[in-house]
Amino acid sequence: MLTINEIFHSIQGESTYAGAPCVFVRLTACDLRCTWCDTPYAFTEGAKRTVAEVVEAVAAFGCQLVEITGGEPLLQDDVYPLMAQLRNRGLTVLVETGGHISVDRVPAGVVKIIDVKCPGSGESARNHWPNLGLLGPADEVKFVIRDRADYEFARGVVIRHELVGTCAAVLFSPVHNVLPPPELASWILADQLAVRLQLQVHKYIWGADARGV
Ligand code: SF4
Repeated sequence: MLTINEIFHSIQGESTYAGAPCVFVRLTACDLRCTWCDTPYAFTEGAKRTVAEVVEAVAAFGCQLVEITGGEPLLQDDVYPLMAQLRNRGLTVLVETGGHISVDRVPAGVVKIIDVKCPGSGESARNHWPNLGLLGPADEVKFVIRDRADYEFARGVVIRHELVGTCAAVLFSPVHNVLPPPELASWILADQLAVRLQLQVHKYIWGADARGV
């Protein structure tokens, strides 16, 4: 059984899949409280669904790409059979996790998008660093960056863990309406850092506060 906050069909707003039609399965609950969290409604709101019901709901959209997100999706044990069954249907499955829970049980073939929490999130002490050793060539690492201190933290992690080249992409995402994208762009360019500046496309299409899109 899973507690599901929402299932919806939209345009992927993040990662290297940005712009592609995607079904989102948002699982309820998170044990972090990032200062800039844009999905606090997922902390408690949700309804029970079986794994089979969720798989059928996803399949009904007829979309090749599905993202399992939250909240923190890895808090619920049945997320693992859910990911496996979606893969068995031939779908491309992404899982976005806050990065504080081991990804070692994520089924093979699922694309892991792992957050590394910067100090501005208030949750950087929770990073589960061994996750960076479990990255495969299709996986991605995301840093949400609030200010210059966050940028310098992220840059240090990228260099120390040699992340560029060990996974599909390293994403630097400015906190929406807090860190101006041109500022982050100028820092990346000045340091000749081979990371990818990511804007949250869905917020430009539907606005920052829209839900279920
Ligand atoms: S991990 Fe994600 S869902 Fe949880 S508080 Fe942080 S941003 Fe919000």
